[in-house]
Amino acid sequence: MGESASLLRLQEIDVELMRRDRELKELPQRERIEMARAAAKKLAAQTSKLVGSRKDLERDIADNQAERASVEESVTKTQEGLEESQTDHRALRDYEKKLTDLAKRLEKLDFDRAALEEKLEAALENEQRAAELKERITTEEQAQLAAYKSEIARIAKVVEELKAERERLTAGMDERLLARYDAACKRFKGIGVETLTGNKPSVCRVALQPSQVSDLRGSDEISECPYCHRMLVIEEA
Ligand SMILES: [Zn+2]
Repeated sequence: MGESASLLRLQEIDVELMRRDRELKELPQRERIEMARAAAKKLAAQTSKLVGSRKDLERDIADNQAERASVEESVTKTQEGLEESQTDHRALRDYEKKLTDLAKRLEKLDFDRAALEEKLEAALENEQRAAELKERITTEEQAQLAAYKSEIARIAKVVEELKAERERLTAGMDERLLARYDAACKRFKGIGVETLTGNKPSVCRVALQPSQVSDLRGSDEISECPYCHRMLVIEEA
């Protein structure tokens, strides 16, 4: 491979390496994984609230049941009292009133209990939905992670091959030419070489004067663009 062909191939390899580097940084899976993780975090906070309110409901139901048991006990005792005071009218009236109050209390407790049970059912459904959503988010994250790893491996393989070729190529190139190339790449953000086929260099695209073209054709195969000062490879006419 001649010097100019080597130089052009070197530029191609470096452009390809830059492209792969950008591809790696812009892999869509990265953002998707972050999104899944953010969603999982948000969901975890919501789930802990759901669990908290469900436990509150369960405690309220237990309290309701405990109170119901104690009211039922009072009912039994009051009935016993009522039976023992058959002749004492005032006591009878008091016991009857107490029984009526206790019955009202039981009714209220049962009413509350039904409402609490309904809320508990809804809370459990919400928890179930949250668990299903968590499952979906986890599956999505794992799928994206697997795709991300495989994309990284694919790009790494290409990069490795390009770097190996670059090494072989530069080993056979003149050091001064390589130094010029490195400087030009630094100066022109990675695109330090252009070619001249007609009268327009391939990168800056500024039309050269016929005299400039003929001067360039008469000089070295690797020259410098009179406009942008990139390295200029003169292609055969
Ligand atoms: Zn130029």
